[in-house]
Amino acid sequence: MQVPPELLQRVQKWLRQEKKSYINGQWVRGEGKGITLYNPATEEVLCEYAGLSEAQLNDAIEAADTEFKKQTFGNLPARDRAVLLRKMGDIVRRNTQELALIETLQNGKTFVESLGDDLPDSADVFDYYAGWTDKFYGEVSPTGAGTLNYILREPLGVCGLIVPWNFPLLLTMWKLAPALATNNTVVVKPSSYTPLSFIRFMELLDAELQLPPGLINMVLGQGSLVGNALTASPKVAKISFTGSTEVGKKIMEGSGKNHLRPLSLELGGKSPCIFFEDTPNLDAAIARAYQVMFSQKGEKCSEPTRFIIHRSIYKKVADALVERAKAYRLGNPLDPNTQQGAQCHKQHFASICNYLEEGERIGLKRLCGGLPAKAGDLAKGYYVLPTIYDNVDPNCRLAQEEIFGPLLCLFPFETDEEAIALANNTPYGLAAGLYTANISRAHTLARELQAGQIFINKYGQYDFAAPFGGTKQSGLGREMGVHSIEAFTQVKSVLIQL
Ligand code: NAD
Repeated sequence: MQVPPELLQRVQKWLRQEKKSYINGQWVRGEGKGITLYNPATEEVLCEYAGLSEAQLNDAIEAADTEFKKQTFGNLPARDRAVLLRKMGDIVRRNTQELALIETLQNGKTFVESLGDDLPDSADVFDYYAGWTDKFYGEVSPTGAGTLNYILREPLGVCGLIVPWNFPLLLTMWKLAPALATNNTVVVKPSSYTPLSFIRFMELLDAELQLPPGLINMVLGQGSLVGNALTASPKVAKISFTGSTEVGKKIMEGSGKNHLRPLSLELGGKSPCIFFEDTPNLDAAIARAYQVMFSQKGEKCSEPTRFIIHRSIYKKVADALVERAKAYRLGNPLDPNTQQGAQCHKQHFASICNYLEEGERIGLKRLCGGLPAKAGDLAKGYYVLPTIYDNVDPNCRLAQEEIFGPLLCLFPFETDEEAIALANNTPYGLAAGLYTANISRAHTLARELQAGQIFINKYGQYDFAAPFGGTKQSGLGREMGVHSIEAFTQVKSVLIQL
């Protein structure tokens, strides 16, 4: 869909207004480091804002702690809390176009992707967790006669929600909805590269709903300053983090220094997708796998960046992928005909360019892609063509490390054992996919593959009810479904002598 001109003008005007953090129900001007945001598609300045000082961040944690102790929100009847959660979802739904446009301007993904992929789930996840507010039961355990042991599920306290820049609003809402449904209070730290969609959401929320001050706080600033200080605070009962493995490890280290706290870590990936010789409906499988790899310009944690293809169909799959890649339209993310937008920010673009150079240096055979000519729509901006490497050495850096861009490695195999060994041959374990008509093979591989989620015959299916998360260096814990409810609560055992 075309961006309505009136909407673009309105958002451009909004971008020029001052951006503040939200602490204890008040808008607060940052006294910390100034940050300039650029539109990744044009390299023009989008917005400037100031991050918080450490003292201001501590005010936010204090406000969340005070509300947690008061439980103004938590003591409301479950039905009323559910109504409030659904209203939050409604705010996103009623402002979908505006929020999608902000997402595109700050992240570089196409407006079509923001509208179709990011926004619907950012609203609906509130409805899903509104339904849980009165459905997480305790337990009674079978202790001996004369005693009764019942087990309560209680909230944790102040939860720090730290999110990355690839799905700025969606990944925040994935955490915010279950954290509130379970009566915690939160301090949300958006990525310093993409805070704008959540800032706008908080403005809309503040104008429409009378929530207790301190229930939801939003703290702006750099990860190494504000994020780090949030992790260091002993008043933060839990950190739910989505981001890189490198920062995830720092958060784990910081969380064990002066205190201990539960963590959810949703980290990086280098996921495989295996095509067996009996792949059902091969053309559709290729189309789907291409789409889940290259949509959102390859900036998705669970995308399949390694295709492991049976030698008998290797050439056919490789040719079909290259044909699609060459026809893929890069350009202005606001144009409804654009299929791939700009990589999110300059440093990230430079990191992808390093991998491209490394590929040339070690003599990888590139079937297509690289950097586009700097002309027309692509004269400015951080653009990388969909890039496919043939028959890659499985131990080279491009095959081992998370690139987080549109770079795909292909590997041929002959036996099932070889396919499994190739698939498991990275430090990551976020997702894995496989295509086969053989049901025994499918179930055997589902057990053998080291990943938090396995996709059989359709890569990349997600559902609020299905757990999401990684093994190995892709993280700790699971989100979604009952798993987020468990992740934001703790168990208390009560034993009674009858
Ligand atoms: P990042 O780790 O650099 O940053 C993530 C968040 O952490 C940001 O808000 C950042 O400001 C903050 N941060 C940075 N340093 C910090 C510190 N020292 N202490 C506390 N917070 C700090 O990640 P990114 O570049 O924003 O996002 C890309 C990464 O996110 C990729 O590795 C991708 O795989 C991962 N990711 C994982 C999932 C998942 O569900 N597993 C989903 C999306 C993205």
